[in-house]
Amino acid sequence: MLRKISKALFGKRSKANPTEQAENAAPKQRPHSNDKRGRASISDLDLSGADIIERDEHCISRRDISPNALKVLYRLNDAGYHAFLVGGGVRDLLLGDKPKDFDISTNATPEQIKQLFRNAMIIGRRFKIIHVRFGREIIEVTTFRAPHEPENEFKENTTNRSIKGLDSAHSSAGLILRDNVYGNINEDALRRDFTANALYYTTDGFRIIDFAQGLHDIENRLLRMIGDPATRYREDPVRLLRAVRFAAKLGFDIEKNTRAPMDEMAPLLASISSARLFDESLKLLTGGKAEKTFALIRKFKVGQILFPATMAATKDPESVESKLLNLAMRNTDRRLAQGKSVTPAFLYAAILWAPLQQTLRKYAAGKTVTIPEHHEAANQVIIKQIQVTAIPKRFSIATKEIWEQQLRLQTRTKRAAESAFAHPRFRAAYDFLLLREEAGEDLDGIGQWWTDFQNVDKNQQEHMINSLGKGAATKRRRRRKPAKKPNTGSEDNA
Ligand code: ATP
Ligand code: MG
Repeated sequence: MLRKISKALFGKRSKANPTEQAENAAPKQRPHSNDKRGRASISDLDLSGADIIERDEHCISRRDISPNALKVLYRLNDAGYHAFLVGGGVRDLLLGDKPKDFDISTNATPEQIKQLFRNAMIIGRRFKIIHVRFGREIIEVTTFRAPHEPENEFKENTTNRSIKGLDSAHSSAGLILRDNVYGNINEDALRRDFTANALYYTTDGFRIIDFAQGLHDIENRLLRMIGDPATRYREDPVRLLRAVRFAAKLGFDIEKNTRAPMDEMAPLLASISSARLFDESLKLLTGGKAEKTFALIRKFKVGQILFPATMAATKDPESVESKLLNLAMRNTDRRLAQGKSVTPAFLYAAILWAPLQQTLRKYAAGKTVTIPEHHEAANQVIIKQIQVTAIPKRFSIATKEIWEQQLRLQTRTKRAAESAFAHPRFRAAYDFLLLREEAGEDLDGIGQWWTDFQNVDKNQQEHMINSLGKGAATKRRRRRKPAKKPNTGSEDNA
């Protein structure tokens, strides 16, 4: 594969000829009217400065592109608009990987795109994009962006209302608040984050257009920010997380200048909405490289901003909580590789387990925690985290249930076992219990008991349950205290 990319790099590669381009150029990209137009051709575009990689010089085949993405490209082209496959779709295909999704960039405005696709929806305010939906697949279409208008500068903490109706706005610190000024393909390319993400694939001759030496960086497995890295991070601090995500996912090194300001810029993430940071946290952990990504997050200061309590509670890599976190990330990667689902509730249960244990230790001060205390500690941990990443209620409730079910699973009584097994979160809670044991927690072999329990038939299950004490606690505890009521706590939670 890389040989093919090399061929693209060092083989036949034409530089767009500015004179020829100027002759062919449309009289500058006009706003489109809806009158019948011919099929768009890239010779209408000013591609001066870009490298053009011909069809036989790169490894991308139409067969690897989603038929729905091709449909969108062709329909836009047929309507006279320019449209390109961009971003991860092109990058991943060049690397021989399967793209997660396909993004399209066009000179059609969101409204014009909507007119062409019944199944299209405009979403986003800060950055309007179009989702064209085909069953479960969504093709993301964006209009070429232009640079910012310097005059629309607002103070920090600007409300949405004060920038309502504006297409372009940024804060005095450089944070982009609105990004809906449309431009041409050159401008669009340079507004993208990394060079490897700024390659454009066209169905017009099946060529790749490279404005930022992206192919060269892909070949060298380098993640390089386009433009001045510090300025680009200030414009959108989420790019810090994207840098970490792509470095881990692609196995790229972060180029020296791209990396240099990262720690200094990390506190800027505080200006990003907690809803967006939650989405980004999931992208970081569900890309199939969660273990590697988490290690990188920890290495950079972004980790302390994104998961402050977790970072503080997992400083010792040898602690069982740190080990559980690593194992959970590895397990996530394995599940995704097997085509299984992962739930944000489980991920957050693992990420926040160490802070929960720390809080419980403070609470209990040596004695067994009660269920209400456990609830209270869980709430505290979640409330702190949602100030950074807004975990939706349906997930945070499930996270708390996974934690609470740990108590039930550990309590060797008939009642607790029956209730744990009947609970809708049983499977997740059981998986979590196994992870705890795997991380080195001594739970008196309870994980094996539950594994055996699931492997036997109904009669044997009944027998196993009946042989547990009615309301007694663990064996050790029973010796100390005659059974009064079911044990609600666990020693490791104390
Ligand atoms: P993947 O979809 O595999 O996560 P991607 O590169 O396609 O990776 P998307 O989030 O789908 O990432 O975005 C598509 C493209 O849009 C990117 O490749 C990049 O060119 C551009 N882009 C996305 N987010 C930003 C951003 N915050 N700043 C600048 N450009 C961005
Ligand atoms: Mg993408």
